[in-house]
Amino acid sequence: MKFNYRMAQLNASSAKYGLCEVCGKAASDMYLQTKQHEKKIAGKDRVINDTVTFGHKECLESIRSD
Ligand SMILES: [Zn+2]
Repeated sequence: MKFNYRMAQLNASSAKYGLCEVCGKAASDMYLQTKQHEKKIAGKDRVINDTVTFGHKECLESIRSD
């Protein structure tokens, strides 16, 4: 299965969003990554959100599987 990743800068730190979910450390600049795949439902291509992860930009990029 082919996954797509979307990343959004949250403009806030761990004080608001909690520790990085990948490395468990605080981050001054938190990002949100959404892992998605496309699936045909009733003949139409739909985007399905699989997982949402909060953390450092570098950490989120490191957990991408393709
Ligand atoms: Zn991290």
